Amino acid sequence: MPGMACGAARGGEAVPRVVAPIVGRDDQFFWDGVAAGEFRVQRCRSCSRLRHPHAPMCGDCGSLEWDAVALSGRGSVASWIVSRHPTEPDAIPRLVALIDLEEGLRAVSNLVDLAPSAVRNDMPVVLTIRDYEGVLLPQFAPAGAGDE
Ligand code: ZN
Repeated sequence: MPGMACGAARGGEAVPRVVAPIVGRDDQFFWDGVAAGEFRVQRCRSCSRLRHPHAPMCGDCGSLEWDAVALSGRGSVASWIVSRHPTEPDAIPRLVALIDLEEGLRAVSNLVDLAPSAVRNDMPVVLTIRDYEGVLLPQFAPAGAGDE
């Protein structure tokens, strides 16, 4: 899974706190969007269907033509887990969530700015781009006043 925030020691060797995504031609548009504060997905130029994660061909009409569009960044929590690294059980746990995006797509990301005990299925969340040691990652935070 690209771009997951993490941090732990393994065998006495420090593991980076964040694993930077390996950006290729297929997902350059996505990471360019993150740098611009956006969550971009592919849109089929033939039938306009949106898709995420990226794929070379439209699953509906078979077109290879697509462009990238920015989503609203709004969604809700479909499911989630509390992730703890076995070598750092006392570290702040990560919240890994499946997000139902407003446009009808789903994405895996992290939840930030809330305690694990506060997470609920269907809770509204909004995109936030966070900088982890120079690596920008799309994360989701609880939607609050001023987000609309
Ligand atoms: Zn299509």
